[in-house]
Amino acid sequence: MKQVEIITTAMLLGWVAVVILLERRFPYRKGLPFFREGFWTDLVLYTFVQSYLLKIIIFDYIIQPLDQHFALSRLHLVTAWPVWVQVLFFLVTHDFYIYWFHRWQHHSPVLWRTHEAHHSGKQVDWLAGSRSHAVEILINQTIEFAPIVLLGADPVVVPIKALIDAVWGIYIHANIDVKSGRLQYFFNGPEMHLWHHADHQEVFHANFSTKFAVWDWLFGTAYFPGHKPRKWGLYYAFPKDYFLQHVFSVKRFDERQLGRRFPLLRRYNLLRPILWRRLRGLAKRRSAAQAPSVLADSSAA
Ligand SMILES: [Zn+2]
Ligand SMILES: [Zn+2]
Repeated sequence: MKQVEIITTAMLLGWVAVVILLERRFPYRKGLPFFREGFWTDLVLYTFVQSYLLKIIIFDYIIQPLDQHFALSRLHLVTAWPVWVQVLFFLVTHDFYIYWFHRWQHHSPVLWRTHEAHHSGKQVDWLAGSRSHAVEILINQTIEFAPIVLLGADPVVVPIKALIDAVWGIYIHANIDVKSGRLQYFFNGPEMHLWHHADHQEVFHANFSTKFAVWDWLFGTAYFPGHKPRKWGLYYAFPKDYFLQHVFSVKRFDERQLGRRFPLLRRYNLLRPILWRRLRGLAKRRSAAQAPSVLADSSAA
């Protein structure tokens, strides 16, 4: 691992620990369990397995061949800029893009299929942002990282930008009762993004911003009522399994009916909770054997 990646990973783990502690101390919704529904699916399959595989596809099979073909990075269009200017430039331009793409995903029934998984959790916390359909990540991260490479940015911009994405993604989904005052007009936080995950008709077309809330205020999609949501997640049934969530985005089905038709799927569905229970037991035993402060570390590693 390169030095910059070691530093950014250490910073991310530190941030995860801080956010978990703040969630316990100042919860937005009281009583939300740490090992909430879908915790292991989000941590193991979305955060580790999917991210790892998509990173290889995006960088090695899309961006690198594009660069070899067009040789754009050799033009060094942004190379002379200071690194902080490069980071700021890609941060703002990508955030502007993601606002509009996110808004489009909520308007288009086809694109909604690539985004509904992100809204499927009813217990939103620091880890909930990781639940994003593979196609959504593939599109968004290619559009995010291809310009960084193709315009000839400093190589450290990629891990720095990835760190900022992860830190901000954890923050806006965190179950923390943040009161940021006027800052919420510019920087996005849990106050507005947790509402975006609510099952309330009035927010289905609101609060699309990721990092800069200013887009929502500028383009008339801000929803900031001053009280908290009562219902969360999707209004319709959604599969709990990672693979079935992806199948569901292509073909709608009734999980129970499908189980009756395919005995193998029924066995898989029976096996899954046993596996997750074992994993949860293992994590609890590990955290009981170590200091309480290691809880955050064991969940993120
Ligand atoms: Zn959304
Ligand atoms: Zn979200």
